[in-house]
Amino acid sequence: MKFFMKKNVLIIAFALILNACGAGKVLVSAENSPILTSIDLVNIVDDKVQVGINPGAFTTSTVIFRISKTVPGTYSSDNYGQYIDDFEALDYKGNLLNSKKLDDNTWSISGAAQLDKVQYWVNDTYDTENDVEDAVFSPAGTNIAEGSNFMLNLHGFVGYFDGFKEAPYTIQIKKPANLIATTTLAGGVGVKNDPLLDVFTAKRYLEVIDNPIMYAKPNTETFEINGITVTLSLYSPNDVYKASDLKERMVAMMGAQKKFLGDVDSTKEYNILLYMSDVNIPDAHGYGALEHHTSTVVVLPEAMDVGRLEQAMVDVVSHEFFHIVTPLSVHSKEIQYFDFNDPKMSEHLWMYEGTTEYFANLFQIQQGLISEEDFYERMLGKITNSKFYDDSMSFTIMSKNILEQPYEPNYANVYEKGALINMCLDIILREKSNGEKGMLWLMKELSKKYGTDIPFEDEALFSEIVSMTYPEVDVFFKEHVIGTTPIDYNTFFAKVGLATKDVEEPTGYFFDGQVPYMDVDVQNDSVVFIRENIELNSFFNDLELKGGDIFRTINEQEINLETLRPIIGESFGWTPETVVSMTVERDGEMVSVTGPVGQPVKKVKKIVALEGVAEETVTLRNAWLKN
Ligand SMILES: [Zn+2]
Repeated sequence: MKFFMKKNVLIIAFALILNACGAGKVLVSAENSPILTSIDLVNIVDDKVQVGINPGAFTTSTVIFRISKTVPGTYSSDNYGQYIDDFEALDYKGNLLNSKKLDDNTWSISGAAQLDKVQYWVNDTYDTENDVEDAVFSPAGTNIAEGSNFMLNLHGFVGYFDGFKEAPYTIQIKKPANLIATTTLAGGVGVKNDPLLDVFTAKRYLEVIDNPIMYAKPNTETFEINGITVTLSLYSPNDVYKASDLKERMVAMMGAQKKFLGDVDSTKEYNILLYMSDVNIPDAHGYGALEHHTSTVVVLPEAMDVGRLEQAMVDVVSHEFFHIVTPLSVHSKEIQYFDFNDPKMSEHLWMYEGTTEYFANLFQIQQGLISEEDFYERMLGKITNSKFYDDSMSFTIMSKNILEQPYEPNYANVYEKGALINMCLDIILREKSNGEKGMLWLMKELSKKYGTDIPFEDEALFSEIVSMTYPEVDVFFKEHVIGTTPIDYNTFFAKVGLATKDVEEPTGYFFDGQVPYMDVDVQNDSVVFIRENIELNSFFNDLELKGGDIFRTINEQEINLETLRPIIGESFGWTPETVVSMTVERDGEMVSVTGPVGQPVKKVKKIVALEGVAEETVTLRNAWLKN
């Protein structure tokens, strides 16, 4: 999965603040008969959908029915069973059988030999995200919006009987006439001459949940990328966006990804299900995406402007698509035999998420979608962000225990330090192989050896990789991935003739781009204060203003959120000689300052190419970034 960059979410939040103010059953044994599932999207009651699950005949006296506690790719315990109401087990005559709820996700049914089917009502997650702690990450969540949208992440709707996860499923969906399904699940639309009944099939439970379905008004685009048929289906609640708005950028991006991957085996079909949420109502706000073998569910706010939406789609979808390599192809037994209710975690998140995220950046520079400077800025951003997490936590121990404290809050570091681990490994491999081999080569070799159906042993992967590569890789794993020593990135940058340096860059007086230097205290008369724990620009520094200072007057105008706005407007016309006077409240005292506003600059760290380095160093850098 991929969390959408928090920084951008913050920007959106700030922008909003500043602008807003059964009958006839044939008795087949449960092992080989398909589990017939029915989902009714027409008769919605209290924002809930009714689901029926009809297995073959059981021979045991009790049977356990489960809804997933967790699903692959989310690395969190979400207990989807908590969204299930009014669970009932019925016998062949339609009478209730005894059933007992064992925990959030588990029901025990007595008299199983008489069990015809179970049925229950399903609540959705999107409109309750605000009300619950640790809400389900939206791309793994569910939506029931009668007549307009259904996000069927099927693990939220369809359960399994213990011991029958390998049985095939047939899923019948009764659907409203105005909505169409987008999914990579096999099956068809409007079968049995009933245009309002879709019937899908899956070979086993894992396949059911690996293929989400989105029902929405038709808003799709389909295109070919070197033998892959890609469908983008988009739900935009206020009709702000059409799938065609994003098509061109997606075609270019996925074409570049395919070129980057070269001969890696991939799916013939790939669907992008994009749910755009409405920020003005209780709706999904876990922005990002979740990977599947042949599709991805993406959730982004409809309020984004088209430029930022396109870039977010490039970053998020490319990440999900690269999951085809890992963990969807290269993965351990923990993932191959995933236990939905008692999952065992693998120690290799550095690869599943780290390699994926690294490739999602590397392909953009290699295929010319971004400049070298952009790439360096992204890597530096990851270095900065990685310091917000525990930099001396073993990545393998964190990975293995990612559902537990204190590891769980460090999860998002897999996108930061996880990617950087791969950058360093990539540089080591290039250096040792005279520029010929890198992380992509390694992943291709691993996917030839393993692949979708052959998992590796979790504890054997490192020695396997070392035997394919160099002793320096072993040292790196032991010190920085298994071990707890923070990485000195400059050592690796030096190998390719790069270094991090402090430079000054122009910025605005009150805003750095779209990010304000101040914040609003809504609890306290909505006073506006200078943000703390950030690097201030020269404007604030030269006037000796500090983070936490509350604006009281500017040029004798009393300041609140309303009166500050026109001053921000005026500031765009200020020249360096313009004089400003301000009074701020600091620790209960009034402090007045006067002075020229100057030309605002900010200090930034940058990764820069060093002059005068050896030619082979430049060649190595080019092999890394342009090969
Ligand atoms: Zn991911």
